[in-house]
Amino acid sequence: MRDAWRLLSATSGIRQLRLAMRTPGFCLGMIGLCLALILIASRGLAITRAMLSPPYPDARRLVLISEGGVLLSERHPIPPALLDYWKARNTSFAGLAGYRWDSRGNAWVTPDFFAVLGVRPRGFLLRRIRNWRSLADQQDLAVLGRLKPGITVAAARTELRDLAARYRNTPQSGPLQQAQVIALVTRTRQPLYAYAAVCAFPAVLLLVAAVIGMHADRRRTGRIRRLYWGYFCIKSVSLPLILALMIWEFSRATSFTLTSTANFVAKPFFIWLVILACGAIVWWCLADQRARCRACVRTLQYPVRIGSLGAVLFDHAGTELMCCQGHGALYVPAVSSDYVQGGGWTALDADDIASEPIRR
Ligand SMILES: [Zn+2]
Repeated sequence: MRDAWRLLSATSGIRQLRLAMRTPGFCLGMIGLCLALILIASRGLAITRAMLSPPYPDARRLVLISEGGVLLSERHPIPPALLDYWKARNTSFAGLAGYRWDSRGNAWVTPDFFAVLGVRPRGFLLRRIRNWRSLADQQDLAVLGRLKPGITVAAARTELRDLAARYRNTPQSGPLQQAQVIALVTRTRQPLYAYAAVCAFPAVLLLVAAVIGMHADRRRTGRIRRLYWGYFCIKSVSLPLILALMIWEFSRATSFTLTSTANFVAKPFFIWLVILACGAIVWWCLADQRARCRACVRTLQYPVRIGSLGAVLFDHAGTELMCCQGHGALYVPAVSSDYVQGGGWTALDADDIASEPIRR
């Protein structure tokens, strides 16, 4: 089987493919293909666009209302009777409406819901809604409100809390059952900012590494290898971007519960996975870059093992890799603290030698 494979891979088609896979263009092409697939599968980044600018008229005045529970982060829907009480007595809202949804894309709304929202959308709060139905029962509801012009979220919150206290005939006390008001725009942009910050971190880290590398280049040879570092910079920006788009468009990080809190899975475990993916991006970018020719940015071939680890005290041991085009060789020591011969790139090509002294 191995001979058959060797024979097969010697045929021109597969040989050409393997040669093409070593070029930087192949890697960048794959990244571009990934971005194109994300663009198509997400219907033109529908969720990201909805987060940046919610598709409702005058969306800045829309707020989401729920009630706090015993825990600080706990949120409860509002009983319909309290919603009616608020509707009748408040002075800060141009309109209040209740809604509820299930996981199959059905939503039940009060009759004035679309008047408050200003449009009959295909989705709501980054969630696709297939069937809009009118509310028939008396279950607790999440509440959407439209503030009157000039009214702040804090003022509306104070008024709703006062009204709720009067409705329940209790003096205000503690966070229990206090109305919570949050701007819709603020809430929908939370995952956008949170994961943008997380994914920007590896990009910044890699770009700092690129700046340090270019600085070292200039100090040693007086010029910067534009192709080599350009390829590195494109990689280190586009891979975190792909990760961020995948999170926003396809994960549950952008799906809210009815009371507009984050889903349970979207919290600690998921963030841990994202941090792990960021680490993988940094590791791969550096590892891939190291094993590429400094002149033509193809992956280096023909690994030759030199010396043995047992004799590392008196002699050097490591691996040497060559560029197929003959631009140079890379020596990677087996132990990082090798004092006999440190690792490094040896330029062999005439163009490269002219500008760089050969390492000894
Ligand atoms: Zn080369």
